[in-house]
Amino acid sequence: MYAVYHGPTGLKNIAKRIALLTQTVADAIEERGFELLAENFFDSLTVKVPDINVIRQKVEKQQINLRYISNDLIGISLDETTEVADLFDLINCFENDTDPVAFDIPQDAELNRLPAGLVRTSAYLTHPVFNTYHSESQMMRYIKHLENKDLSLNTSMISLGSCTMKLNAASEMMPLSWNHWFRMHPFAPASQVEGYKFIIDELSKYLCEITGFDACSLQPNSGAQGEYAGLLTIRNYHEANGDHHRKVMLIPISAHGTNPASAVMAGMKVVVVKALDNGYIDIEDLKMKAAQYSNELAGIMITYPSTYGVYEETVKEITEIIHLHGGQVYMDGANMNAQVGLTAPGLIGADVCHLNLHKTFAIPHGGGGPGMGPICVKAHLAKHLPGHVTGGTSNAVSAAPFGSASILLISYGYIRMLGPDGLKSTTEYAILNANYMRARLQGAYDILYLGTNGTCAHEFIVDLRPFKKSAEVEAEDVAKRLIDYGFHAPTMSFPVPGTIMIEPTESEDKAELDRFCDALLSIREEIKEIEEARADKKDNPLKNSPHTQLVVTADEWKHSYTRQTAAFPLYYITQNKFWPSVARVNNTHGDRNLICTCEPVEAYMEAEA
Ligand SMILES: *Cc1c(COP(=O)(O)O)cnc(C)c1O
Repeated sequence: MYAVYHGPTGLKNIAKRIALLTQTVADAIEERGFELLAENFFDSLTVKVPDINVIRQKVEKQQINLRYISNDLIGISLDETTEVADLFDLINCFENDTDPVAFDIPQDAELNRLPAGLVRTSAYLTHPVFNTYHSESQMMRYIKHLENKDLSLNTSMISLGSCTMKLNAASEMMPLSWNHWFRMHPFAPASQVEGYKFIIDELSKYLCEITGFDACSLQPNSGAQGEYAGLLTIRNYHEANGDHHRKVMLIPISAHGTNPASAVMAGMKVVVVKALDNGYIDIEDLKMKAAQYSNELAGIMITYPSTYGVYEETVKEITEIIHLHGGQVYMDGANMNAQVGLTAPGLIGADVCHLNLHKTFAIPHGGGGPGMGPICVKAHLAKHLPGHVTGGTSNAVSAAPFGSASILLISYGYIRMLGPDGLKSTTEYAILNANYMRARLQGAYDILYLGTNGTCAHEFIVDLRPFKKSAEVEAEDVAKRLIDYGFHAPTMSFPVPGTIMIEPTESEDKAELDRFCDALLSIREEIKEIEEARADKKDNPLKNSPHTQLVVTADEWKHSYTRQTAAFPLYYITQNKFWPSVARVNNTHGDRNLICTCEPVEAYMEAEA
């Protein structure tokens, strides 16, 4: 959006101004007898000084932070927020304290410090999107126009199983826009960040208490990065014990794709563990593989409740088997919304887990925004947690010592405002909501994988595979038809192809849960019409979904069902209609032309075979 608003010319002007101010500072500092380490630069200078402490005292009085590289080297960086007035303060610190500070910025100044060979002459940002919206009115409308295409939480619930799309309360988010939080640099001196330090220490303590663990690292910026950090912690632990050969990581077939990917990144060998028909980890297969790889076993990665949405009663047995063979247990914390206050990774025998603060602990996500995936560990792993150069070690997993520290305020607010009882009832409501929906849908749909008492955890899987045979209806048809009903589809085809996984979270009230159930039950009736040959197998509301406004209001309507059925199949939709901006896109084309791949867990099984 920064590039959209400023466009190529605006960006270049911003850059030119930064380079000019930097050049002005450089000239002024050189004039005062200091040496610059580099002749050419853009926005950053390294200055040789007799003693950094003399300068440091002066700049800190001006409320400026510089980078103190060594006893005689100082780093200075300017950016687009630097003003001419700042230059007086900055240059003054290199002054002898008797002469007044003076410098020129000639209007027609040449940028003579950019390395000539690196100056760009080719065109860039030529797409119209970067050359159209350069006024605030146009920019506002452009952003709104994009927002209108989005079926988001401000329209209806998003029941993305495993992703925990809960409320991101305004009261939790508000502090992020407060000056004293959002203007902090991640490498600001410790004496300037006592507030952050307080929040970070308190939050670490709460997360340890919630997980039943002893130590915490707030460094990882996502769940997947947490997995990576946790696995490195396990690897470092084994290596410290002289067990350099412990590199085999057992991963159940139902695991999230990030699990095997993280294991491979951490230098481990993935061995897949089978599942039983009821979705539980196959204990016999686990025992066999743990024994087979006993000498090389690094550990196991499990998700609890499992990605099938059940509290596996065998979980303690699983963690015991792994420990018996010298392995460590990594618990994927994506499903913590079903654990907080009721149980804990520490209680079920895990040694390390990550927490998706952007799932369970109320940080917004879903647009690729910043996340936080801190890890918590048992005491024996504490000294193997990621460190940071600022703390004198080199095993960091992210650039900043506390990841995306500003968004920790959201999780801190969430935990503080709910308190221990509130957190526990949050989990209870999440489970209750899921079971309410399960109970309403059961009968019309097959629910896969329930616990031995016939209930689910905080999410459940609806089987859509039978409709392929009975009505030629695919999971995708149901997902797309839900858009006509004003709902974002649940998680599709994970962890089981041809199914949807519903996770309502505690944030939705009964009326919203009922609307979603009504939509799914109505879709079930539409499928029945096809099954009973009352509707056409090719031309029906499911196959043609979602229906755009253009299609529904066109002069021509050739379908065997009505326009009202297409766009307003239930009454509640007339009160809050979401119009999709496109109908189906060619998924296969997208699949074939994207470059990012996350291999399914099966691929590791095949590779092993
Ligand atoms: C979301 C999720 C992850 C990965 O978390 P990111 O923050 O998206 O990297 C890992 N495992 C499971 C089960 C998840 O649902």
